[in-house]
Amino acid sequence: ELGFFDGEFISLDEAKVRLEDRGYQFGDGIYEATHVYNGTCFALPRHLARCRRSLRELRIPITYMDEELTAIHQDIIKKSGIKDGAIYYQITRGTAPRTHYFPEHVVPHLSMTIRESKPNTEWQENGIHCTLVEDIRWLRCDIKSLNLLGNVLAKQAAHDKGVQGTIQFRKDQNLITEGSSSNFYIVKDGIIWTHPLNHYILKGVTRSILMEEIIPKLGLTVVEKAFSPEFAMSADEAFVTSTSLEVTPVVNIDGHTIGQGAPGKITQSLLTEYHRLVRQECYA
Ligand code: PLP
Repeated sequence: ELGFFDGEFISLDEAKVRLEDRGYQFGDGIYEATHVYNGTCFALPRHLARCRRSLRELRIPITYMDEELTAIHQDIIKKSGIKDGAIYYQITRGTAPRTHYFPEHVVPHLSMTIRESKPNTEWQENGIHCTLVEDIRWLRCDIKSLNLLGNVLAKQAAHDKGVQGTIQFRKDQNLITEGSSSNFYIVKDGIIWTHPLNHYILKGVTRSILMEEIIPKLGLTVVEKAFSPEFAMSADEAFVTSTSLEVTPVVNIDGHTIGQGAPGKITQSLLTEYHRLVRQECYA
């Protein structure tokens, strides 16, 4: 494991956070999480594009160009010696005496960590159990901001119940949005369903790869339309996607078996194709 703060490589236990960093006091910043396979960061340009968008939406000045961020990713991988791992980085608005409005003359901070990590193949082969919780997050879930208390509480609900995942739904509309740190999909009568892109969900990089590269290639049909928990319970297949989970089947929701209670055919074909893209990019 290794860390990075504002231009310097540091050990993870080194004290670097300023007490009045707005990321620390307000969650005033954004983050990205990427995965490293065989010493190469997968789909990095998509992550960098989303990072830029998150910064723009929060009006945090862009002080790191994509080329520089790419080079820092490469450096931290090389210096850590990690071949298979997870990189986390965040950019905060900067440090200033505490005021809610944006302070003037502050420069954003960049910090990054890398740790060894591999996707959970056991979950991918057998599927996971999930619980449903009310989505209580704010109304800009399209921004990958540091404010994650809603997601934290959602994930803790799964932990408390002894299941692996959480699926969130909006109580006012009775519609599923997404996982606690993943996008959610079901398959019914051969059609894949997932929540449309808007302020209620994050535009997952894995979701984009599925929609733009994998689903068209496999000749599958997808509708971007929100659906209810009851509809999800009656699905033939269900799955979640994220950088760390890749494509992970969901076989049970709050005690209700989904389909045959085992990973479905369409879900498996999406995962196989995802692995092919990873091999192509990271094991070339
Ligand atoms: N939705 C939420 C709320 C997330 O936090 C994440 C990732 O952490 C995702 C979806 C999946 O995004 P990605 O595929 O870019 O990892």
